[in-house]
Amino acid sequence: MGGTFDPIHYGHLVTAEEALVQFNLDKVVFMPTGMPVRKTHRMVTSAEHRYLMTVIATASNPDFEVSRLEIDRPGLTYTVDSIKALRDLHGSQVELYFITGADAVWDILTWKESASLAGACTFIAATRPGFDLGRFAEERERGILIETMEVPALAISSTDIRSRFSERRPVRYLLPESVAAYIEKNRLYADGAES
Ligand code: NAP
Repeated sequence: MGGTFDPIHYGHLVTAEEALVQFNLDKVVFMPTGMPVRKTHRMVTSAEHRYLMTVIATASNPDFEVSRLEIDRPGLTYTVDSIKALRDLHGSQVELYFITGADAVWDILTWKESASLAGACTFIAATRPGFDLGRFAEERERGILIETMEVPALAISSTDIRSRFSERRPVRYLLPESVAAYIEKNRLYADGAES
């Protein structure tokens, strides 16, 4: 599961659990993005903080793991490179799924190197109800495997949570309390600052 996770929240965790069950997966590996290619215009919280928040949020679930693959790779993070790396790591027999938000799947598949993704893995595009999932028809026609999943909990968003921290509005029930405590301790989104 790819994501900037700035910060990770219950929408991401519910999506992962739902995918695990719906697609009968062995495990979900959360892979925080190193340097998000689409976010060079805004400050993104340091990769190490985002990685640690992801570890804290997933620690109690035996089916969840966290990978440093993308945060340890220098330069901008392209999903194409990660899928190749995962394939090299796990071999040709393992069935790989790449789970992320539907808008991000769209970005990945309209990227210039995306032709090499045909057959490389199955994408699981998660979205809140109401998103037009029919927009992937053309990508499917060119051999990209895409499953879609509506997750009502994705009404929760990282952007909203960052604003809530900086404006001192409530965040309880939007993300794990342990992650909220980590954010407070490190003053990650205080005063609108996204360090
Ligand atoms: P984003 O564009 O910030 O997110 C788009 C939407 O998807 C937001 O509503 C976001 O909600 C949601 N989302 C993000 N990750 C999710 C997840 N794991 N589960 C459910 N919803 C999720 O996306 P991003 O976080 O920067 O990127 C997501 C993944 O796509 C990362 O692995 C990234 O590296 C990859 N990506 C790759 C390329 C490329 O290779 N060219 C381009 C774009 C993205 P929240 O903001 O609440 O998370």
